[in-house]
Amino acid sequence: MPEAHAARRARAQERTSALGADAALITSLVNVRYLTGLASSNAALLLPVRGPAVLATDSRYEQTARREAPELELIVDRFIEPALTRLAGARGLRVMAFEEHVMTVEQHQELTAVDGAPSLVASGRIVEELRMVKDEAEIGLLARACAITSEAFSAALPGIGPGRTERGFAVLLERAMIDLGAEAPAFDTIVASGPNGAIPHHVPGDRPFAAGDLITIDCGARYGGYHADMTRTVALGEPAAWQRDIYELVAQAQRAGIEAATAGTDVSAVDAAARDLIAAAGHGGHFRHGLGHGVGLEVHEAPTIGYGRTGTLINRVPVTVEPGVYLPGRGGVRIEDTLVVRADAGAGSREMLTTTTRELLVL
Ligand code: ZN
Ligand code: ZN
Repeated sequence: MPEAHAARRARAQERTSALGADAALITSLVNVRYLTGLASSNAALLLPVRGPAVLATDSRYEQTARREAPELELIVDRFIEPALTRLAGARGLRVMAFEEHVMTVEQHQELTAVDGAPSLVASGRIVEELRMVKDEAEIGLLARACAITSEAFSAALPGIGPGRTERGFAVLLERAMIDLGAEAPAFDTIVASGPNGAIPHHVPGDRPFAAGDLITIDCGARYGGYHADMTRTVALGEPAAWQRDIYELVAQAQRAGIEAATAGTDVSAVDAAARDLIAAAGHGGHFRHGLGHGVGLEVHEAPTIGYGRTGTLINRVPVTVEPGVYLPGRGGVRIEDTLVVRADAGAGSREMLTTTTRELLVL
């Protein structure tokens, strides 16, 4: 998609110019991938406001870089940031914006020590802001990641039974995602059973499932670099009244959050739509994380949907909606979906990308 990458670079150039800089040095690997197509563990991009961009990587990624970004000038070096900074100075660039949320103090010191280096100014998260709104090709990859996740969840579900362990099920589910075409799990799968369900980010262990457990499974597939994110809580055996109560409460809060996730709505209002219901039921203190987050080339990216956050949802922004109730020592429920906000005529207000039923599954 060289044209898509060129269009993204043009938008980043506009933002850089608005800062008063004559170039940006992009050192976030995800941002380099977004602007060039090159996925690697070592690359940087010099993006002058006018004129051609220069990609730098080391010899391990040289062939991939030439294939993914044939339109770009390429520097192959072990020390890529100093090489690009030297080049920027040699090309007469005087003010270079850098990603201060990515660069270490040590790297910054190295760059200011380069002979003839441009002066460095902080860029802020200009590329992350661009990444928030996805094009249709990106949404297509994310939708595929989400479809694989839902299918893998259904395929693995029979693996939940008394005596099976959290770890065993996590492995089974991740295997199913790979079998269905995922390049990798989007993150380490969470399987939290019984009292462990009260820990929002429990690491799956050797606890065997037992009748009477609520089991929370937070999982996602990665496809084409894009990350799905979905959580379901299921019951092993007939649930007790308190388990049904918190499940219904979380399901109701999630529906309210999804309904509120429309173009033009402030993220704090989306958060409040779900959180107020949970608080009104007396469980405000049992839901202490944000309601959701953007997803894309990273599993957590802009925007953050949370209490005290600001920002407005707009067309083609994918987000998660994931309320939970966690009762220490007893268990918990979380329900999470990935959706994309739609404002285009005829497309409705949102498109659900993860499609597994949100009814309580009793196994
Ligand atoms: Zn999740
Ligand atoms: Zn999430």
